[in-house]
Amino acid sequence: MTRLLQELLKNIRSYDNTKKRRIVRWMQKWGILKSRMQCPKCNRSMRLEKCDRSDGLRWVCKHHKSSPLSVRNGSIFTNSHTPLVKWLEFMYRFAQGLQLKQLAMINDGIAGSSKTLTRMTKVLRKVCIAALKRLRIRGMRIGGQHRFVVIDESKFAHKRKYHRGRCGNTWRRKRQWVFGMLEVDGLSRRPILRLVKDRSRQTLISKIQRHIRPRTSILTDEWRAYNRQLSQYGYRQYSVCHKRHFVDPGTGAHTQHIERAWQNYKLEIWRRRGNRTTESLKTHLKMIEWHHWLGVRHYDGVLGRLIHDVKKHVKTI
Ligand SMILES: [Zn+2]
Repeated sequence: MTRLLQELLKNIRSYDNTKKRRIVRWMQKWGILKSRMQCPKCNRSMRLEKCDRSDGLRWVCKHHKSSPLSVRNGSIFTNSHTPLVKWLEFMYRFAQGLQLKQLAMINDGIAGSSKTLTRMTKVLRKVCIAALKRLRIRGMRIGGQHRFVVIDESKFAHKRKYHRGRCGNTWRRKRQWVFGMLEVDGLSRRPILRLVKDRSRQTLISKIQRHIRPRTSILTDEWRAYNRQLSQYGYRQYSVCHKRHFVDPGTGAHTQHIERAWQNYKLEIWRRRGNRTTESLKTHLKMIEWHHWLGVRHYDGVLGRLIHDVKKHVKTI
């Protein structure tokens, strides 16, 4: 599917009505546009009719010809004026994680303004976050016997406005702690990243119990609140002081995995300006989880997964 989409986008330099129609058919085949529509007035099935405006096709009922419906009806594209081919191109880039540089995308003609792009990004993020929510309901747990999980906390700073009487507002950095649990299995990574209100033993141990299976080998830094406590809860704990050793010679335990992962996550969030507010930080942490738990694990790659999740948002009736 990814390859097909690439081909499609490559050959789409001139964008006429025939190509528009082809794109609608493709999106219907993938299930991200409805392939059947019922007339809202008489419930009879509608049929696709050619038109020269917007998407090249529209739904009509032979009994109510005066009220056609858009092919976007019931899909995530309903409230958008962006051509569908541009949406596909945007989804392709979104899945590739191409830093989503707005200026570059405006230059490439994907959208006319950064406002539109922001709106499009929001739509796709909502789709991903809904998919992640379904996964969370099923349970996101990592580890198990003979499995390694590295845990650590890290500060993600963002600026916060303080109201200070007549002096006006001042900006201060707010430190936000993120508790990370990372399963390392060969090249595969499964991160669970949660904002925590404090770093007390109670808070962190409840997160650990919720997300890490018993008998997991847990790697921690030497200086943690939960230090030497985890064996009470049925885990095997290895403490590594990463200031001195990257690899504990006794256990071969790597805390550098999480060090590196933290750096990447922070860099990504910083690049996307995701740490401005708590809400946006949460969204970005979820997007990182979506990428590692769902995106890269799909047989058809990240784009395949994105299309799969968009499909879930298409109304059935
Ligand atoms: Zn009708």
